[in-house]
Amino acid sequence: MPSQVLCKCASCRKHTVILDNVPQAGCLVSFTTRRSHEKRAVSTPPRPVSPSPRQKPTSSRPPNQQEVSSHPMDIIFPSSTVIKMICILVVWLHIWAGISRSVVNTILKAFQLIISMTLQLIEAALCSSGISIRFPDLAIPQDIWTAYARHFLEPEIICTVCCPTCFSLYPQPAPIKCQWKESPRSRSCNTDLWKSKNTSKGPKMVPRRLYSTQSFDTWLQFFLSWKVIVDSLAGAFHQRGNRPAAFGGDMCDVQDSPAWQDLTGIFSTPITI
Ligand SMILES: [Zn+2]
Ligand SMILES: [Zn+2]
Repeated sequence: MPSQVLCKCASCRKHTVILDNVPQAGCLVSFTTRRSHEKRAVSTPPRPVSPSPRQKPTSSRPPNQQEVSSHPMDIIFPSSTVIKMICILVVWLHIWAGISRSVVNTILKAFQLIISMTLQLIEAALCSSGISIRFPDLAIPQDIWTAYARHFLEPEIICTVCCPTCFSLYPQPAPIKCQWKESPRSRSCNTDLWKSKNTSKGPKMVPRRLYSTQSFDTWLQFFLSWKVIVDSLAGAFHQRGNRPAAFGGDMCDVQDSPAWQDLTGIFSTPITI
């Protein structure tokens, strides 16, 4: 009803209307009615409200506003989407734009301050108009690796220590010295597997030879988490049926091979888990 306006005069404040899903003190009246209410309020000063025993004696607010503000309305707010967008931005800044970890961590803290302050200002501005709302708390990660781990699948890295003398492999935690023996009765290799390295935080023991490999299972999960990969696999899988290759005919790629063609009968989808 566009012809109606919200009147918040002393008598209309005793009622509550719902505007845009937010309860507000006041009445929806015509513009002329509100003018007459305003004139009446100016001519008759409001009577002092005697505080009821349940009300706090220090409160100077009208009872209706007190009632509204004591039950702030929780606003449904896509906070997880906002946090995800911020995380994607800082991960992009760190990985693609080459911004250092300490700088992106400062950016994360700045985002937390700016957004919390903005929401508080909105709450305060609406509260001064008699609309009491409450936004959910935004918990933005304070560190880039928390932001990364929360929104991106990361392949698992397996670290393996290798003996520089006999090339025996040890999963972490590796022993101090190599224990490999050529035969049960021969002496062990006994090569030091660790060395001291000076770092900014003092000397630290590090493996003399360390190999890092990706876990295939988590790498495959990471690889298949990309929509473009899954779409390409599906495209290649369905394309195969359209090009039946004759045995002994020209093969341009692996999809033309008869062995690949035979897979059609085994699998009905490109990804079988
Ligand atoms: Zn009124
Ligand atoms: Zn060894």
